[in-house]
Amino acid sequence: MPHPRRPTYRWRVSLDESELPRTEEEWRVRLSPEEFRVLREAGTERPWTGEYVDTKTPGTYHCRACGAQLYPSDTKFDSHCGWPSFDDAIPGAVKEIEDRSLGMSRTEIRCARCDSHLGHVFRGEGFTPKDTRHCVNSVSIRLEPRTDA
Ligand SMILES: [Zn+2]
Repeated sequence: MPHPRRPTYRWRVSLDESELPRTEEEWRVRLSPEEFRVLREAGTERPWTGEYVDTKTPGTYHCRACGAQLYPSDTKFDSHCGWPSFDDAIPGAVKEIEDRSLGMSRTEIRCARCDSHLGHVFRGEGFTPKDTRHCVNSVSIRLEPRTDA
């Protein structure tokens, strides 16, 4: 008989793993319709409409679905693409998946913890020394402003 074991998780986040929704219906009641469309159905918000496009506030961006920390604000940069852009993620926080939808070959990024859609990652554009652009929907993330500043 296997012992019931309490899993251990790397991130200390607002949502306990046991509280994470297990079905899309559970996600649907937790999230707003727009959040659900983007996070759980890999939708995209219209460019320049997201609340964090031009945000410069210091802090940490969390996954709006599960609360996991994803991006420190000092990785955010002005890409002028209409979505919040980051040149690096917290190690292990974001996973990459090949996306061949819309007749393009792109790399989708998802929250590694709850598998929610964040956006796409692009490399080789030369925006920053890291040469990486995580193009993220504002509705997929939530900024927790730094309080010690
Ligand atoms: Zn998440």
